[in-house]
Amino acid sequence: MLESLNILPKKSLGQNFLHDPNALEKIVQSAELPPDALVLEIGPGTGALTARLAQAARRVVAFETDVRLRPVLEAMQQQYPNLKVVWGDFLEVDLEGVVGGDPYYVVANLPYYITSAILRKLLEHPNPPKRIVVTVQREVADRITAKSGEMSLLSVSVLFYGKPELVMRLNPAVFWPRPDVESAVVRIDTFSQPPVDVPDDETFFKVVRAGFGQKRKQLKNSLANGLALTNEQADQVLAGAEIDGRRRAETLNLEEWAILTRIYAALPKN
Ligand code: SAM
Repeated sequence: MLESLNILPKKSLGQNFLHDPNALEKIVQSAELPPDALVLEIGPGTGALTARLAQAARRVVAFETDVRLRPVLEAMQQQYPNLKVVWGDFLEVDLEGVVGGDPYYVVANLPYYITSAILRKLLEHPNPPKRIVVTVQREVADRITAKSGEMSLLSVSVLFYGKPELVMRLNPAVFWPRPDVESAVVRIDTFSQPPVDVPDDETFFKVVRAGFGQKRKQLKNSLANGLALTNEQADQVLAGAEIDGRRRAETLNLEEWAILTRIYAALPKN
């Protein structure tokens, strides 16, 4: 199809098209879409996943930046009147204007070069998707679903907003062109309320970012540097949370980050 349109896939846009029918089917199934679902797809490409989503959901809004794909996706819109294609960079899209306060789902084979930015935009939105099912780079999937002891800024962020789960690994051979990296599908069921008690999201992420700010450093040093605390203040926060300051950020669980945030937020401000 792409040859007949004279389109060469662009590596810079993360264009590796998933052509395996079983994998596409499993992605849609794992989203468990109710028939009245509104689904957003980021990067419909040639529409292999889009068509299946349009069959499974009430409405699909697909965001594609590569206008060379216009003929393919416009033909698909003719076939599926419940599909709308929005042209442009998804990161620039006013999500509020698209979904308002309605519940919605996100199902997509993401362009890998902006995976984190897309997840951040979705999860931090005041009305986040009810569920996200996305194909990402295998290493990113491993980080999203990391076990305790191997946490990262990404895994803590995802756990704050939802419950992540690995759906399946994907061999590079199921894509055309074959990517250099392995892939995996993850599902994130979002929470309606954060699972931990923190004064506000901003302070929570300020503390977590500070903690992970310096790779392989002990927590006490990372927090003192990242939050501009004196040694005494850093000791006070850690002692109040009953957390050993020699630990590394990777070993803290979500509740421990929440306790640190509460104590940090209660420090007298000078
Ligand atoms: N959904 C198709 C599939 O499953 O085969 C294509 C997935 S491909 C990995 C990623 C798609 O995202 C490409 O079609 C690419 O043009 C598109 N894309 C890249 N950057 C984008 C952006 N900033 N906003 C929207 N789409 C983007």
